[in-house]
Amino acid sequence: MSESVKHCIFCDLINGAGEVSICYEDSSAIAFMDIQPVNLGHVLVVPREHFESLSDIPPELAMHLFEVALRLSPVVRRLHGAEDMNLVVNSGAAAGQNVFHYHVHLIPRRADDGFDIPLPFEGSTMPDRTLLDAMAVRIIAELRDPVRRQIASRLAAVGA
Ligand code: AMP
Ligand code: ZN
Repeated sequence: MSESVKHCIFCDLINGAGEVSICYEDSSAIAFMDIQPVNLGHVLVVPREHFESLSDIPPELAMHLFEVALRLSPVVRRLHGAEDMNLVVNSGAAAGQNVFHYHVHLIPRRADDGFDIPLPFEGSTMPDRTLLDAMAVRIIAELRDPVRRQIASRLAAVGA
């Protein structure tokens, strides 16, 4: 656990130190009911090991959690009588993460439930196509060049 995380509520739950309603378990993942659900049936899929966010979770584990969420999705949808689902990851404080133990929200949705992830973003206007193209090209270049990617992430880590 990182130095900045003094105490983790999800680690407590995983270690049996708090009330939790578990609906799925395996050797690396656990899923339990959110205590403040958007709708009843709102599940959190969580790694047993503590990782904070998308920036430190191993990709294979993140894939596994997504797989677990996909397995749970039709079951939750059927039991809740939900019309649709949101799969949501809030990664980092600026992205709305409140519990800094990585998790995937599986949220059963009804049309009139009042919850919303308002996309497209209302305040946004379409950037010039050249900007969109330039960003796409930069992403492609980074994906093709692992060394450049490592340097970029090291620079980002030191805030350069
Ligand atoms: P996030 O904002 O993505 O970090 O979401 C954290 C989620 O964890 C919220 O939906 C909370 O309702 C949920 N939560 C916080 N504490 C508990 C707990 N003890 N048991 C179950 N869910 C929790
Ligand atoms: Zn934790």
